[in-house]
Order: sequence, then structure tokens, then C-alpha cells
Amino acid sequence: MSRISGDEMYAFIAALYPICRSITGNGVRATLEQVKQYIPLSVHEVPSGTPVFDWTVPKEWNITDAYIKNADGEKIVDFQHCNLHVVNYSVPVKQKLSLAELKPHLFTIPQHPQWIPYRTSYYNETWGFCLSHQQFLQLHEDEYEVCIESSLTNGNLTYGEYLLQGETDEEVLITCHVCHPSLCNDNLSGIAVATMLARALGQQQRRYSYRFLFLPGTIGALTWLASHEAQVDRIKHGFVLAGVGDKGHLSYKRSRQGTAAIDRVFAHVLSRSGNAYEIIDFSPYGYDERQFCSPGFNLPVGCFMRTPFDRYPEYHTSADNLTFVDPQSLADSLATCFQVCSVLEDNLTYMSLNPKGEPQLGKRGLYRPIGGTPPPDGVDGLVLLWVLNLSDGQHSLLDIAERAKCNFADVNEATKLLVKHGLLQQCEERVR
Ligand code: ZN
Repeated sequence: MSRISGDEMYAFIAALYPICRSITGNGVRATLEQVKQYIPLSVHEVPSGTPVFDWTVPKEWNITDAYIKNADGEKIVDFQHCNLHVVNYSVPVKQKLSLAELKPHLFTIPQHPQWIPYRTSYYNETWGFCLSHQQFLQLHEDEYEVCIESSLTNGNLTYGEYLLQGETDEEVLITCHVCHPSLCNDNLSGIAVATMLARALGQQQRRYSYRFLFLPGTIGALTWLASHEAQVDRIKHGFVLAGVGDKGHLSYKRSRQGTAAIDRVFAHVLSRSGNAYEIIDFSPYGYDERQFCSPGFNLPVGCFMRTPFDRYPEYHTSADNLTFVDPQSLADSLATCFQVCSVLEDNLTYMSLNPKGEPQLGKRGLYRPIGGTPPPDGVDGLVLLWVLNLSDGQHSLLDIAERAKCNFADVNEATKLLVKHGLLQQCEERVR
């Protein structure tokens, strides 16, 4: 199943890759249309000029073409070839200029002379081109014609939302950003994993409601928070998905709270994966967890990544392309998210119905020697004893797994067996 989903996510990324996205405009709409092929997303439009806390929804940006021509009329930089060539949010321009006049508008990466950088000018009305340093070094004194056919007008900010209603209104918030142009790991991997996770969770019974948001970075999260302030207390757990398709190890950045259930669940799942992983403390720099974890909200929202964005040189360059992500890593990221959601779903608290002394397991056929060959049902004797001992209405199954140093899934199985034999009862209140 996971290999198929990895191939499917990779194909989805390949389909989204050519679209020129930005924080507003038709690129986001075209992207959300493609997400709709998998899940019934609602698309929301918020007008330019709408105040959102200390910010304002910007003008809408769209682009059809851009190039630099030399005096011979040859296109030496062409947006049609790669949309990273234009500084994202560039104002329209058509003029002729000398190399000296052109140079302040050009951006390159001298350390990686073959890569094109990704640059933006969202809140500063200017224009520019990005090119490889190799290309830049070939420019000579000439009269250049620059053309950017873009528009920056009053329009809308677009975002996508999908609520999977569960048995309760308590929510798990899962978000990703949708504002980067042709970049695979940073942006498209998060969209692909979020989409397939939503589809998978939609096919099973859920206690929690799951809210998926496909947002333009920063301004999209602020816009959503500003218009949903009254309902954010429903969010009990959450994570931002970003950079989940590269071949590096899994990483989780804790929420600002640091010890929220979501922080503990990710730490548990990653530490038991058998693979290299990293837990990173919260810092106020990164993806949209910055907004969800701002002091006025302080939501239990972390960030799930593979290699953190500040550790790979391909980040925000043309080298974050279809060869930088792979189906296996995408499948592994999706499986991890699914596992985290399963732990959240099953993390209940139980009460032993025989709390005075140990119950006699032998007469119920539940006695199993410690350390012998595992019983046919796979439930370990020591795990049974831990669950019985700590099920006092005060410890969740995650508390038990942490203290007993065993897998949550094993604790969950032991619990089911003890419930079946009338030794445990679930407490009414869900542990938060
Ligand atoms: Zn980015």
C-alpha cells in the first residue's frame, strides 16, 4: 500500500510542479483544483485589503510571461523555461537597459553556479530575475530588453480547507503551504502528503475531527486565524507539514508548548521507528507553526519535516526539483503521519476494575510468563501488567507506553484484551 501511495504522491507532485504559484493568484487556484481530484476541498477567497491582525491581505499577483532579450533579440532568460526565473510578485515591466542598470535586478547563487535561486518580493513593489551564476557570468555589455507580463491588482487571497468531521468537534489541525512555484520538497511534498493523509483518514472511523488547510505561507495562516479566532479552542493537536519528500531522516519540531500531547506522540512514534530521527525544540522561525504558536494563540501545533529547511543547500533553488524527492520518502512520511493520528485517536485513559491487588490472570487465561516465547496473540505479559497497574484513571495509554518503554500499539493491544476480559473500563473523559 505504501509503495503505491508513494508513487501516487510522486506523480501528483510531478503534475503540480510546472504551475507558477505565489501567495495569491491563479497558481494557487490551479493547485487547489488538482487537490480536489482527491478530496472535496472547499476553496475560500478573501479580498485584497482585508485586515488580518497586524497585516493586510495583499493585492493579487498573476503572471503570463517574462524574459530578458539581448540586443540580437534572443531570449537569454525565459520564464516559460522555468518560472523561478522571475522574482515572485514582480511588478510588470517592459524596458531597455544597459548591463549596469540590469545587474541590481539579477539574483544568482555563486556557490552553486548551476542553480537558479527562488526569490520573492511580496511586500515590496519591485521586479527582478533569477538565473544561474553560470548564465550571469556570460552576460556582457549590451542593450537588454526586460519584459514581465504580470499584474498586481485588487483581487483575492485563495486558500483550501477540508474538514473531516469526527465523533467529536475536537480538532486535529493539519496544514501545508501552497505558495511556492516550481519547488518540490518545499511546498509540493507537503501538499501531496496532506492530500493523501486526508483521503486515508476519510476512509476510517474517527473520534477527532480533522481540519486540513492548504494555505499561502504566513499571510494564509494569519488570514485563517483572523477569521476563525472564535473556534481555535477546538484545536487539541496539530502539525504543519513541510519538506516531507527528501531522502533525509524524519524530523519533528515541537510546538511552543513543548510538552503538548502532539509533541509527545511524535517523539514516541519517531523514537520507535527504528530509523534515524531528530526532535527539534520550538523556535519562532520556520513555517506556519510561527503563527499557530504565536503567544495570542499558543496552539499545540508542531512541524513535521524530513531534513530541516536550513540544512539542505537545494532549499529555495531550482535544485529542489523532481530528482530531490522520491516516492519512498513520501510514503514513509505519509505512514508516519498516519501512525501519529492513530496514536492520537487511541490515546484514551482506562480504569482497572480490580484495583486492589493484582487481578488473578490465570483463571482468565491471561497469565503469561515474563520473558518466554511470545503468546499467539502477541500480547506480552509484562505489558499487560503495566497496563493493569497504571490504569487508575490518571494515566493515558501514551503515559503507559512511555513509562513501560514499549510501543504504543502493544499497549493498545494489551488494553483491548483486558477490556474484553472485563478488567478495564474506559474513562469517559478523553485525555487531552
Ligand atoms: Zn519556502
